[in-house]
This record gives sequence, structure tokens and C-alpha cells, in this order.
Amino acid sequence: MKFSGLKVFAEALKGHTGWKPLWRNPEPKAEYDIVIVGGGGHGMATAYFLAETFREARVAVIEKGWLGSGNIGRNTTIIRSNYLLPGNQPFYEMSMKLWEKMEQDLNFNAMVSQRGILNLIHTDAQRDAYRRRGNAMHLSGAGAELLDREGVRAMYPWLNFDNARFPIKGGLMQRRAGTARHDGVIWGYARAADQRGVDILQNCEVTGFRIEGGRVLGVETSKGYIGAKKVGVAVAGSTSRVMQMAGLRMPIESHVLQAFVSEGLKPLVDGVITFGAGHFYISQSDKGGLVFGGDIDGYNSYAQRGNLPVVEEVLESGMALMPRIGRTRLLRMWGGIMDMSMDGSPIIDHTPVQGLYLNAGWCYGGFKATPASGYAFAHLLSTDRPEATATAYRLDRFARGHLIDERGAGAQPNLH
Ligand SMILES: Cc1cc2nc3c(=O)[nH]c(=O)nc-3n(C[C@H](O)[C@H](O)[C@H](O)COP(=O)(O)OP(=O)(O)OC[C@H]3O[C@@H](n4cnc5c(N)ncnc54)[C@H](O)[C@@H]3O)c2cc1C
Repeated sequence: MKFSGLKVFAEALKGHTGWKPLWRNPEPKAEYDIVIVGGGGHGMATAYFLAETFREARVAVIEKGWLGSGNIGRNTTIIRSNYLLPGNQPFYEMSMKLWEKMEQDLNFNAMVSQRGILNLIHTDAQRDAYRRRGNAMHLSGAGAELLDREGVRAMYPWLNFDNARFPIKGGLMQRRAGTARHDGVIWGYARAADQRGVDILQNCEVTGFRIEGGRVLGVETSKGYIGAKKVGVAVAGSTSRVMQMAGLRMPIESHVLQAFVSEGLKPLVDGVITFGAGHFYISQSDKGGLVFGGDIDGYNSYAQRGNLPVVEEVLESGMALMPRIGRTRLLRMWGGIMDMSMDGSPIIDHTPVQGLYLNAGWCYGGFKATPASGYAFAHLLSTDRPEATATAYRLDRFARGHLIDERGAGAQPNLH
């Protein structure tokens, strides 16, 4: 079934009785060439690219819950490629380019909206740092603009410009950045992967790996043993727990990140804004809710809910930046489990177990990476070679000291 305006019109005439489920619900086969553990955005995008680009015919995705139950359905939907370091910038720019054509590729409306992101500047040192970042962005074609105070005021006159502690001095703008509907993304990839023959096995938990002579032979699951020539793990916040079943200890800590949505308001925030003097980022959904978030909770946890100190801190930051939201009512909030790596950058690599591959360490930033991560992981799984923009994302870089410390915070996962 192909989606089009004509199809919507025709369905409207016959009472919407002709729509079909977006993907099948198959029984697991005894064996696949490639099994992906984790049906989040990254796992599903990987399966799509394996089938579409690398012509792999026997692929399955194994998901312990339902599609969209993890971070892919919990994030604040921001996509951008405003990175600084050479190990990161080209990869995230590749992702941005894939976002720009995703809806046509998948024939699915993921509500990709390039409404721009504005990173606010509050100090002279921050302006220097953002000028450098903007130059790095130009090198990979990501595009960037440095705005002065009046340039920011023209866009958002109601921001708190003269806050004595955090005066706004300008901003770094990436106009191609924006938002996408997060569950639309996973549904779009799932539909397209299913159409290309991928088996999506929902409500099927991987409970162990069968490994013999240092080589993976398949996975134990709640629906029985499934053989596989290669296994790719993309389980985000559950990485340490799942890889432990293969006897591997990960350079990852798990933390909760919370997100918030307000009641619906008239249009106020056209794009995405990030506060430069505290951890706070905000956009407005098409339904009118202000969607915002801040820092992770400061302790390790596998709970998909957070605690009140971070709520207070996020709301304080929001009030410092935009006092006019003070009377807005909070509608709901939730949490997701983050796989925080030691340097804040991801891992897409082989593991010491032959045939077992890892995609992890996405920290706060994995939604924007979804298409590129899927493409790069599929490349590695299919060809056994890293994709050109993802060569720095090695698992052993922590032992070798080749960190990709985008934030400059050192080996301190809760600070990235
Ligand atoms: C509140 C919040 C806000 C965020 N905001 C942004 C943002 O604005 N921009 C951005 O770029 N990023 C953001 N992120 C980060 C981003 O959502 C994640 O980095 C990214 O979604 C992780 O990859 P994923 O989609 O594959 O993860 P997930 O959707 O979590 O997928 C992993 C899947 O693995 C499954 N799984 C786990 N264990 C097993 C098992 N044993 N067997 C089978 N399946 C298993 C899980 O059920 C889950 O569905 C945010 C995250 C959160 C929580």
C-alpha cells in the first residue's frame, strides 16, 4: 500500500475501511542471517538499510516490548547537526541529509520540520566557542549563522534579554535543524523494513546469547532460540545489561532523562531554543504544547521515570530564560533510560565476540542520529567495515585514550 494525498481522499469517501496494518506480526524463524536486538529507532533503521541498501534478505528485529516503547517514543524530537569535532560533525551532517529525504524514501509522514535551532550565547567566551563550532559546521556543509543580540531579539523579543545573571548576547543558528514526530519515525522505518522482508518480532525479549568458541551462534529469547550468523545489539539504555549476557562489560552508565509537555498554547516558539546558561531546551509541538527538557537525573537508574529535583531545576532554567511561561500548566512528564558513554559520543563497532556487533552510547543525542546510525550499523553488519563517517566510534577508544569529548567534560558520563 502506497500512501498519497489521493489515497487519503479515496479512503475518506469509503469511511476509512481500507487501511491495512503497517507491518506484519510474523512468528520467529529458526534462523536468520542477521538479527538485530532492540526495536527502537536505531535497530529499526538498521534493519531498513540492511534490506534496502545492502540487499540482506534474512533479517529480523527482536523487541522485548512494542515498537516505540523505548527512547524513540520518549525524546523531545530535536534533530540537528551542530557538532564541533571531526569524529562527530560529518556523521551528524550525514544524518541531517538523510532526515531531509526520509519521508520520500519511506513514503511516510514523519512530520520532519526544519524550523531551525538557536543556541543562545550569554558570555564572550561562549561566543568564541560557538563561532568555532559554526566554522566547523561550515566545513561539512551543515550551515550556521552567528546572530548578535538584536538578531535574536528580532526572532524572540519576549526572551529575558537583560537578566542580570544571564544576559543574552547572541546565538548560533542552524536553520536546517528542527524536529520530527518521534513515533512517526519508528512506524515509518518499521513499515518500510517490513515491506522489504524484515521480520519484526515484538514482545520477544532476548534473554541470552549462545556463544561457542568465541563466536555468537544465535540468541535465546522468550519465544525460544533463534539462530543468527550475525547479531547486532541496539538496545540504548539497556546496553550494559544485555551485553553482560555476552560476558562483556561496557564503558556506559545508565541514567534517566526526563521530558515535559505543557498544555496547548497559541504559537509562541517557532523553532528550537537552547539556553546557554543552564540545561534547558524547548520547542512547541504542532498541537501547541511546549515540549522541553534539561539535565539527566544525577544517579544511575534503569527506571523509566525521574525525580523532583531535576523537575525543579528544569523549570527554574525555563523561568530564567522565558518568564512569560510562568503561568503555563504542565500537562505531563516522563523519563527514558540513557546509555551515557564515558566521552558522550556513541559506539558503532565489532565486539570481542565474533559475529556480535554493538550500537550504543547515544546519550541524550540519539534521536537526531537515527538515520545515520541505522545506515552506519547496517554498513558494518553487512560489509564488516565501518562506514566512512563512523570510523571514530570504536569500542576500544576508551582504553586507547582516543576520546571524542564533544562537550569537553572528560571521562564523566553524567556530565555529557
Ligand atoms: C526524555 C528524552 C529526551 C530526548 N530528547 C532527544 C532529542 O531531542 N534529540 C535527540 O537527538 N535525542 C534525544 N533523546 C535521545 C534519544 O531518544 C535516544 O538516544 C535514542 O532514541 C536511542 O536509540 P533507540 O531509538 O534505538 O532507543 P530505544 O527506543 O530505547 O530502543 C531500544 C530498544 O531495545 C529494547 N530492548 C532492551 N532490552 C532488550 C532485550 N533484552 N531484548 C529485546 N529488546 C530489548 C527496548 O525495549 C527498546 O525498545 C532523548 C531521550 C529521552 C529519554
